[in-house]
Amino acid sequence: MEGGGGKRWRFATPNPAVAAAGERSIQRYLLQLHACLDEHGPRPVIPLSQGDPSSSPCFRTAPEAEEAVAAAVRSGDYNGYTSPATSLPARRAVAEYLSCDLPYKLCTDDILLTSGCTQAIEIVMSVFGQPGANILLPKPGYPKHEAHAVFHRMEVRRYDLVPERGWEVDLEAVEALADENTVAILITNPNNPCGNVYTYEHLSKIADTASKLSLLVIADEVYGRLVYGSTPFVPMGLFGETVPVLTLGAISKRWVVPGWRFGWIAICDPKGILKETKVVDSLRSFRMLTTDPATFIQGAIPHIMNNTNDEFFSKTIELLKETAEICYGEIKEIKCITCPHKPEGSFFMMVKLDLSQLSDIGDDIDFCKKLAKEESVILMPGRGLGMENWLRITFALDPPKLKQGLERVKSFCRRHQSHSN
Ligand SMILES: *Cc1c(COP(=O)(O)O)cnc(C)c1O
Repeated sequence: MEGGGGKRWRFATPNPAVAAAGERSIQRYLLQLHACLDEHGPRPVIPLSQGDPSSSPCFRTAPEAEEAVAAAVRSGDYNGYTSPATSLPARRAVAEYLSCDLPYKLCTDDILLTSGCTQAIEIVMSVFGQPGANILLPKPGYPKHEAHAVFHRMEVRRYDLVPERGWEVDLEAVEALADENTVAILITNPNNPCGNVYTYEHLSKIADTASKLSLLVIADEVYGRLVYGSTPFVPMGLFGETVPVLTLGAISKRWVVPGWRFGWIAICDPKGILKETKVVDSLRSFRMLTTDPATFIQGAIPHIMNNTNDEFFSKTIELLKETAEICYGEIKEIKCITCPHKPEGSFFMMVKLDLSQLSDIGDDIDFCKKLAKEESVILMPGRGLGMENWLRITFALDPPKLKQGLERVKSFCRRHQSHSN
């Protein structure tokens, strides 16, 4: 490739897998939408797109968590690299935190610490990714799952989540998609982008299906316990006797501190199948090659997990319940948008666009671009999550701001309403 000064630079051929993975990022869509914003517009931008509520004062993390981090930094004990003195108490705290909901106990050896749930995804995809292997991912789904699978040269096969059945996994599709090269099925529960929470019964069927197909289950539970509907949160690890499970999690969402970059991989496999098959060795080897979470966060984790007041969690849940209710109610009043399932967990809901009711909107991306330009509201086009002509709405922000944002969506839809209807 020719470049700067006609020279053939030796580095001018970056790994094409990086570009392929980048194509699948949320940021790519958000950049496009931000470019559409009217910078001289009179109104502030309302982002109903990103899953980071930390910028809303009402979602500020627990004071106990902030204190724990400050104390860890001030102690002077956490300025070095990770050592057993920093990582063992942190892994023990995570093991205890997760074991509360399980019929067996996890031990420190079952926990790998990661830099947020993103690195947990990265590590798992690195360990299983090899040419020829394929993985079953949900549609719609979280783009980083696909991006990291693609980056590690795995073939991605999409199974449907069924909106009419509360976004349950289409288990028949799973059986039809899997073959002898399928390594795992990934589920996200509570779900991003759909906001649904799987019942015990449904998770049990997923476990049976995976076991029948000899697949590992990778459970992204970064929204674990963030539920506010009638379905309680049940961790997939509960079915570890039926099928081996790798649970991915983080403090990012429940404590509303995505910038702190602390997560984990939990090996939920009481029968020891992952140990026997050397998967655990591979996870540990890879863990040693990559970076750890910052040591002062490791130092703070036992305090964060053990001392955060229940009041903080119940306040967050109440707020999410309220904002989900506002969002669901407002969307109901918009003719061209329907929500098939009221959210019960996470920060999101998936809604369907009816283009026939709109006069001059080509597709979901066109909708989001014009909305950004005319109303300074950012929504996530469904295409970025694998479902064209759907939208993902984030409702985890200050209620007045959320209402304002939804009002703007409403007036946008009214203005673009098709007159033949
Ligand atoms: C936010 C999110 C992640 C990433 O979590 P971090 O801890 O911020 O890296 C992973 N999976 C899903 C489904 C998410 O929504």
